[in-house]
Amino acid sequence: MNTDKNESPMTQILADLKALAIGFATTFKHLFQKPFTEEYPEYKRPLPARSRARIILTRDPDGGERCVACYLCSAVCPVSCISMQSAEQADGRRYAPWFRINFGRCIYCGLCEEACPTAAIQLTPDFEMCKQDILALVYEKEDLLVDHGGKDKQYNFYQYAGVVTDVGEKGTHIKEEKPVNIRSNLP
Ligand code: SF4
Ligand code: SF4
Repeated sequence: MNTDKNESPMTQILADLKALAIGFATTFKHLFQKPFTEEYPEYKRPLPARSRARIILTRDPDGGERCVACYLCSAVCPVSCISMQSAEQADGRRYAPWFRINFGRCIYCGLCEEACPTAAIQLTPDFEMCKQDILALVYEKEDLLVDHGGKDKQYNFYQYAGVVTDVGEKGTHIKEEKPVNIRSNLP
């Protein structure tokens, strides 16, 4: 309603009628438009690959677990919902014997994915994770680990990283220079 006290009652009535007419015209216009209704869950709209929902742990192209249990994702997580234990295999590769995410606390910010040096932890568009039992939202490693590389299928951390494993000594990885002999710099 128009509340300008300087206007005459007739002007106010006309202004209010005009506002009503504009509102009804908008409603009337939509009566003849095709409805845009998506019948969820029968139809699931394809979401962009970068949508942030259920988290997975991915694998190298050779099938190895990418996670090296470096704790970076756990450290950066603003709600502290990632926990794990680190260990080392006989060939020098680090891995997480157990890895846990509490999705009851996760806010799907994506910071863990940003921090991960091995592209192991990735968020996916799968948002259908509702559970009645909140403890069922605690996912263990076997719930998180998938059999593919996710968004970056070809990346293999141990082919690039300067760590000694069966894959190669320091200085033998892709684009990696030989280690500097610091003794050669001594006077
Ligand atoms: S998406 Fe954010 S809140 Fe969820 S586990 Fe990753 S860092 Fe933590
Ligand atoms: S998921 Fe990535 S950031 Fe987290 S511990 Fe494993 S390698 Fe490190």
